[in-house]
Amino acid sequence: MTDKITMKTPLVEIDGDEMTRILWKMIKDELLLPFVDLKTEYYDLGLEYRDQTDDQVTADAAEAIKKYGVGVKCATITPNKARMDEYHLKEMYKSPNGTLRAILDGTVFRAPILVKGISPAVRQWEKPITIARHAYGDVYKNTEFRVPGKGTAKLVFEAEDGTRTEQTIFRFEGPGVLQGMYNIDSSIESFARSCFAYALNLKQDLWFASKDTISKVYDGQFKEIFQRIYDEEYKEKYEKAGITYFYTLIDDAVARIMKSKGGIVWACKNYDGDVFSDMLSSAFGSLAMMTSVLVSPDGCYEYEAAHGTVQRHYYRHLAGEQTSTNSVATIFAWTGALRKRGELDGTPELIRFADTLEKAVIETIESGTMTKDLALITTLPDPNPVNSLEFIQAVRKKLEGML
Ligand code: NAP
Ligand code: MG
Repeated sequence: MTDKITMKTPLVEIDGDEMTRILWKMIKDELLLPFVDLKTEYYDLGLEYRDQTDDQVTADAAEAIKKYGVGVKCATITPNKARMDEYHLKEMYKSPNGTLRAILDGTVFRAPILVKGISPAVRQWEKPITIARHAYGDVYKNTEFRVPGKGTAKLVFEAEDGTRTEQTIFRFEGPGVLQGMYNIDSSIESFARSCFAYALNLKQDLWFASKDTISKVYDGQFKEIFQRIYDEEYKEKYEKAGITYFYTLIDDAVARIMKSKGGIVWACKNYDGDVFSDMLSSAFGSLAMMTSVLVSPDGCYEYEAAHGTVQRHYYRHLAGEQTSTNSVATIFAWTGALRKRGELDGTPELIRFADTLEKAVIETIESGTMTKDLALITTLPDPNPVNSLEFIQAVRKKLEGML
């Protein structure tokens, strides 16, 4: 065994809950600490500690990502009524991911991890499709109204100087429903910049789609902002990199995605992103094979798995049973963060380590050793389903052989 790989700048390490917290420790013990002189600044977002600190630890973790530039996060519980009782919480804290996103003003990019033997439902998808969701405004911040009966609905805007703009939406002859929603230029602009920068970094084409033929002003604004930022800030860089920015209507984009070979970053408005990210992750095979990265417009990165804390497996684990929980997306969160750290610090050994660990994971699965969730859907002839720790140990063995 040669010397451990050294790091210049710490990673912001954000621990989490339940089964993923168990995997987190296994991954560190088996796949990271033996090989890397791991430097991290640790934040415990496990629900107990969030409660002890009145959720201050979540805000502190976000500030640390701003300071250092790169973080890696374990899945965390978003409390609901049942969790309030289970953990005797002082209050129903907000989703940690929501808090991180709000502080970092980021965009979430989700991409599948492709392996042979887990085939996408869409045959011609050869390369991953990364989806970027604008996580601000629109129907998620709507104001809705149940119209009781006959009357006129109006859209009114009162400017600060008192100017009033008023338009009739509809004259109701009977009961119905009504909804108001909004977005703001600054958020659309930072979304567009995050998307252009991310696709450029990956050297993949960027697609953006909306329904500006119907929603001429609202969706038209999204289209215009994307086009302006492309022309002013990215056109030259894209041409140099040999990639393109492509705008189309959302229904056309969906049809084209189905016929594409993948290898695209697809920027979606908030609702489209909600719907199509779930479609893509199930079409690519498994939620346990989706990674997610939050990118802020000023270039901070937070890597994580797209799935949750896998609660059902955790209860089995607590009951002393074996679990076969897939750690791949969590391992890739670590490799993504380590690679980005290596790029920012100029430490090629760290980048090489991240690449090699990913290769070890993929080769382990492609040689037939995988967790049960994958063994159920693989097209490989004789899969060897293993438990959570056995999988990680098999990856370690491969990794040791490769290093
Ligand atoms: P989940 O943790 O994603 O798990 C849902 C089901 O999907 C599991 O029961 C399991 O199916 C399967 N699954 C997901 N990840 C898997 C993996 N790595 N390996 C094997 N199977 C996997 O969602 P949930 O149970 O609805 O949510 C649990 C908690 O996670 C909630 O408290 C929620 O707030 C939180 N959550 C956090 C995040 C985040 O931090 N990013 C995201 C989503 C949810 P089987 O049981 O059939 O094996
Ligand atoms: Mg959804």
